[in-house]
Amino acid sequence: VAKREGGGRVRLFRREMGEDVAARQRDKAALTAALADDELVVHYQPIIDVATARTTHAEALVRWQHPGRGLLGPDRFIGLAEETGLIVPLGAHVLRTACAQAVRWQGQGHRLGVAVNVSPGQLSGNGFPREVDELLSATGLEPGRLTVEVTESVWADENAMRLLMAVRELGVRVALDDFGTGYSSLSYLRRYPFDLVKIDRSFTDGLGEDDRTGGVVRCIIDLAGALGARTVAEGVETPQQARWLRDAGCDFAQGYLFGRPEPVENWHPDLLTIT
Ligand code: C2E
Ligand code: MG
Ligand code: MG
Ligand code: MG
Repeated sequence: VAKREGGGRVRLFRREMGEDVAARQRDKAALTAALADDELVVHYQPIIDVATARTTHAEALVRWQHPGRGLLGPDRFIGLAEETGLIVPLGAHVLRTACAQAVRWQGQGHRLGVAVNVSPGQLSGNGFPREVDELLSATGLEPGRLTVEVTESVWADENAMRLLMAVRELGVRVALDDFGTGYSSLSYLRRYPFDLVKIDRSFTDGLGEDDRTGGVVRCIIDLAGALGARTVAEGVETPQQARWLRDAGCDFAQGYLFGRPEPVENWHPDLLTIT
């Protein structure tokens, strides 16, 4: 486009590209420093067992406690981390932190597992299964207390799936995150076993508003059941949604109704129930 508009534009375009590269270098350096300075913190959001109304897991969600700009959500920096490869050390930091927290909860008598998001970039080399194995040995965490969450795009990547299945063989649970929003074909899903399907918030949002959404959610719950997996509904905000999901046989629920992602000091897992 720039070329067709003439030489002046091409220069402008190039200069802007140059500025882009410089800005990215600065952002990358800032994120690297943030990791080193321990500004990347982990908040936890409860996941509730619908049948018992108890919190059984906590999803670890990373935030950047930025000295000048306040608390930044993952949408502001995960993309950059993925593009620059920083997702590998960042992801390792979140994984270590969450496993240590699960062990601490265990020591305090809470039977809570942790769920950690894993990006495709963390499953590109060969190191991930060993990293997880060493972490489990070092912390003494029961493998079944750890869930790794990946999105559908990983399902199409054979090397990533080989690594993911090696992690699952350790006894770690695998969850398919944001289910229904990606482009996974059903033929991928029957190829590899997994433990949990997380029904994307966009479906939960529409529950009770229209029958078509309800039909799709019932279908996802059935599909998960047929594949030997259990279901987690994301983004549950109202008691009506929670009841709908319980009646439809959804196993777990997560959302602002039960608790927002919070630093661990703000956690009261015993107070969370479905009424
Ligand atoms: P996700 O894994 O699907 O996480 C759920 C997101 O939904 C979280 O956003 C959570 O705060 C939000 N959420 C939960 N319940 C509700 C609700 O009732 N209503 C609404 N409106 N939102 C709700 P968050 O923390 O901003 O994270 C966004 C995404 O960033 C995550 O989506 C995940 O894909 C990614 N992410 C977060 N932490 C990490 C990480 O440590 N590593 C990687 N690779 N990705 C991460
Ligand atoms: Mg997730
Ligand atoms: Mg999700
Ligand atoms: Mg989501």
